[in-house]
Formats: sequence, C-alpha cells, structure tokens
Amino acid sequence: MNAQDKTPLAVEVRQLIELRGPMPLSRYMSLCLTHPEHGYYMSRDPFGVAGDFTTSPEISQMFGELIGLWAAAVWQSMGAPETINLVELGPGRGTLLVDALRAAKVVPAFEQAISLHLVETSPVLRELQRLKLGQTETIRWYESVEDLPPEPAIVVANEFFDAIAINQAIKQADGWYERTVTVDGSGELVFGTSKAPLPEFEQTLPESVRGAPLGAIFEWRSNRVAYELARRVRLGGAALIIDYGHTRTDVGSTFQALRNHSYDDPLGAPGLADLSAHVDFEALAHAAASLGARVHGPVEQRVFLINIGIEKRALGLKSGSPERAAEIDSALARLTAEGETGMGQMFKALALSDPKLASLPGFGD
Ligand code: SAH
Repeated sequence: MNAQDKTPLAVEVRQLIELRGPMPLSRYMSLCLTHPEHGYYMSRDPFGVAGDFTTSPEISQMFGELIGLWAAAVWQSMGAPETINLVELGPGRGTLLVDALRAAKVVPAFEQAISLHLVETSPVLRELQRLKLGQTETIRWYESVEDLPPEPAIVVANEFFDAIAINQAIKQADGWYERTVTVDGSGELVFGTSKAPLPEFEQTLPESVRGAPLGAIFEWRSNRVAYELARRVRLGGAALIIDYGHTRTDVGSTFQALRNHSYDDPLGAPGLADLSAHVDFEALAHAAASLGARVHGPVEQRVFLINIGIEKRALGLKSGSPERAAEIDSALARLTAEGETGMGQMFKALALSDPKLASLPGFGD
C-alpha cells in the first residue's frame, strides 16, 4: 500500500481522474483544501505548535492590534462614516480580529461604526471564530467573496490569497501545456500535462516571462477575488492583503505542501497537508487596477509593520509587562526578519483602495 492509499481524498481524486481524465492543478488544489468532507481546512484547526503552520497574528498580538489601528486610520480618512463594514477573508482562529477590535477601542466612534463580515468556508474555523468573537459582536459569515454586500468596506486578508488555487503551464517546443494531476501505471498520483498546448498562451503572458526557456513553469490564479475587492473599495474604503509572494511576475513553481511545520510532497497526502503557492502581487495589483482600484505597495511586511509602529508597540508592551520582554522581542524579530525565508521579507503588504484615498498608513505613499 502506498502513502496515497491512506487518505480518503486520494481515493476520490483517483476515481475522478479515472472517470473524467487528468484534472488541472487548480481542481486538485481546491479539492485538497475545501472538499466538503475531506478538505484540509474543513475539519481541523491547522494553526500553532500542534498544527501545520503558524501565522503572524498567532505569533503576536501586536500584528492584529496594529492592523486594527490601520483600519481606524483608513476609516478616518474616509470621513469617519457612521457605519463601516469591517471584512476579513479567511479569519482562521479569529485572533487577528480580536486583537484589532481591542486596539480599535482607542477610537470609540470607529469601534461603534463597525459591522463585521467574515468570509470563511470552514465550519470548524467558523465555530472557533464564533466562540472568540460571538459574545460581543454581531457577525455575518459568507461562503465566498462574491457574497459580500456591495458596499464600502475595510478588508483584511492575511494568508488568504496563498490558499486560492493555482494553475500551472510548462513551456515545451511547440507551446505551453497545462500542468495536470493524473494517475500512473501503478495507481499513484503524478503530475502530467494537457494533451495539446494551450492556444496562443505565450501572447497572453506578461512581457517579462515571454521568451522563457523550455521547461519553464508559469503559475497563475484566478483574479476573481481581486476583482470583487476592487469593486467594493471603489465604493469607499480599502483592502489590506498580506501574504508570502513576489512583487514581480516570474516563472517558477511555488506550489508547496506543509505538514507538521515541514515541507511535504503536494501529491503525497491529499487533504492532510496544507497546500499553497506564493502570491504574484504584480498580477493581483494589475487585476485590481484594471477595475479602477488604487494600488498601494507592495512593500515588505517588515517595512509595513515598522511604518505603522510595531517597534513602538513592542516598547509599550514591554514596559507594561517587563517579564514578557524576551517573548515580545522574539516575536518582533520574527515578524520583521530579513532574508529570503524571513517573514519580514518573504511576506509583502499590498493595499487596494478607493481612488480618492491617495495615501494609506504603512505604504509611504
Ligand atoms: N488569516 C488567518 C488564517 C489564514 S489560513 C491567520 O492569519 O491566521 C487561511 C484561512 O482562509 C482559513 O481560515 C481558511 O479556512 C480560509 N479559507 C481558505 N480557502 C478559502 C476559501 N476558498 N473560501 C473561504 N475561506 C477560505
């Protein structure tokens, strides 16, 4: 018995392929993450030491607090409307929002104006969010970004876009072939390619990747969420997107699986590992701008956090709780770490806004 036999989703993926043929990578990734029964996010809390990965809000309260103050400043620059939709995409355990709402209390009129709208597909995580936030707040949940009310909004999305399914194409002598997931002779899931090249693919690519060498992989994801956010912020407000990724569109596969804090084979244990891919911030910005949103950044997470005052906040926290000084310093160092794998550099912040908002805190614009 091979490793894939052990997961119920592997059996289902194999059956689907036998019935309908190889599936695009995006279909495989969506099934692995959000299959109603066996999807990675649908049945578990993946965060923290016992889980598969740790996100910024889980590292320190400072992250959510500063984003709460960022949102308050955006609300003020909108003219302090009496009501404002505060939206989070993929709130995980709800930690960021709890910290943000606590910090928002320093601007009481903002706190009172907030109505909370959460986009969350996982019933387990919705329940965790309800437990954390539900006592004090009226919250509405949505399955997808399309369902959000078409109203002005302040949106936060930390590590949401990396979970949106990607497609890949491989360049061969006679064109670009879509990468698929298929089954080999022994019944193992393996990568494959479409039978025919994707029509006129090279011409649709950004100039920087046209003329890529043979064997190059190009990765892209649907612009659906970027478009939905652009439409809403054009009515008023802004969306803050923080994730790991690159500022320029380039070739190369970033499709990855994380299990127990280690990298794993993305085809090895469908439904049991977190699958993700880096965010192409240039493509995201381009899509949102094409619908009239103003784009701010991207800037590295460390730059964004320092600009909005994380060092000052760390000092304040330490003077209030000197016994926690080492823990606070290490969280600060981790969130702002430089180097290719440092969170401060690998993660970027990008904001989309109403074109009327010429500058936003944190972006130096
Ligand atoms: N923002 C949180 C969690 C990041 S993990 C944090 O920083 O800790 C990704 C989150 O997005 C989870 O809450 C997951 O359930 C949710 N999610 C993933 N794919 C989704 C989809 N297609 N629709 C809605 N929510 C999704």
